[in-house]
Amino acid sequence: EDTLEIAEGLQQHLEEQGHEVALATKAAHALALACSFRPELVVLDLGLPDRDGYDVVEQLRARGESVPVLILSARGEEADKLRGFRLGADDYVTKPFGGGELFARIAALLRRAARAAAFGESAPASPSRPGPLADETLRDRFGLTARQVDVARLLGEGHTNQEIADRLGVSYFTVRSHTEQVLAKLGVASRAAVGALLYGGS
Ligand code: CA
Repeated sequence: EDTLEIAEGLQQHLEEQGHEVALATKAAHALALACSFRPELVVLDLGLPDRDGYDVVEQLRARGESVPVLILSARGEEADKLRGFRLGADDYVTKPFGGGELFARIAALLRRAARAAAFGESAPASPSRPGPLADETLRDRFGLTARQVDVARLLGEGHTNQEIADRLGVSYFTVRSHTEQVLAKLGVASRAAVGALLYGGS
């Protein structure tokens, strides 16, 4: 949020509620903070001085970040909101906003995220978060090795074990063993589910 009056007001209020708040007034800073600060929730303005807020949410999702994003913007047309949701936002509040509603929505998103974490839900599998999971997400979050990432990508594209073996120049049995590991690590039961998880759809 680049309007300091709004940004600092929100910061103060959220801190009074016991939240730790990091403030970014530019898109580039917001994207950097997403990595370093690891927020549990992002409140995102659209009109930022360097780049559009839409770019921020799109980049976060492309990186495989599942952090809830609430867009807070003066752009109130349905098309603006739909674009935000399509890019992976979780909620949208228009300015001027009532503090009561905004803070209730923030609390609801945090509750939902906590519930999802408690049930071990993998947020990127949600159909509201389209786009392929980044390789680093597959490695860091799911613990796949570099070779297993290659196998997962090819499985997701619908290749058979033999085709994958030929592509990667390894034996059929090596691929079969990697495939079992990939399914186990991703927590899915079938090869088809790998495609759904990596590339969306069902
Ligand atoms: Ca702004």
